[in-house]
Amino acid sequence: MYEYPLTFSLTFDTDWVPQFILDDVLSLLQDAGLPGTFFCTSPYAPFPATMEAGLHPNFLNGSTMGSSEEECLAFIRRLYPQAIGSRSHCYYWHNRLRNLFLAQGLRYDSSQLLPLQPNLRPHAVFGLTHFPVWYSDGVHMQLGADCATFSPAGLEDPGLKVLLFHPLHIYLNSRSVQESKTLLGGCEVPAVTETLRAKRRSGQGMRTLFLAALKHIRESGAPCRRLCDLL
Ligand SMILES: [Zn+2]
Repeated sequence: MYEYPLTFSLTFDTDWVPQFILDDVLSLLQDAGLPGTFFCTSPYAPFPATMEAGLHPNFLNGSTMGSSEEECLAFIRRLYPQAIGSRSHCYYWHNRLRNLFLAQGLRYDSSQLLPLQPNLRPHAVFGLTHFPVWYSDGVHMQLGADCATFSPAGLEDPGLKVLLFHPLHIYLNSRSVQESKTLLGGCEVPAVTETLRAKRRSGQGMRTLFLAALKHIRESGAPCRRLCDLL
């Protein structure tokens, strides 16, 4: 059976964090010399050339992006007219979105979660390439896994390994979604200021896990690519 070579891709769903939280993650990536793909909910400063900006449309009921799927996609598309990829908030997907995405000039989607499945690879369906997510911080936190080392099962095995992290959890070094909410203290994410830095949790958390992941990828010698580079 053809095996897709071990390849990493670091991806991030910005989920309405302000620029300073994004800058924090960008500097960690740049210190490690690794590229990343950011699926954006909000307007951000232009990304460095080694990073990719994709779309993170929120199609859920009550979305602030619009009252229909077309409106939501058009809203975020206007902010990132150069983007060629998308991952929907909460992995929202159905088959009819494909034509909507293609009509907007998008070439890939990454709204599928297949945690720790072996030998994943990109697959194209009627002109749109899909990049399934192999690992997410959300799954890690739900499992209550330890944050001292980055060692998900099958880490060294062949296959495309798309990793998904949320900048907010990295910034706060939280160990659960609930802990991030508690640290926010009722403040809505877009409105947080740099005083949030004082709330960063000490010890092991998503920040230490993320740094361990960067170290592992760097030392593995395996390629790490933006999703746009894997088409
Ligand atoms: Zn999201």
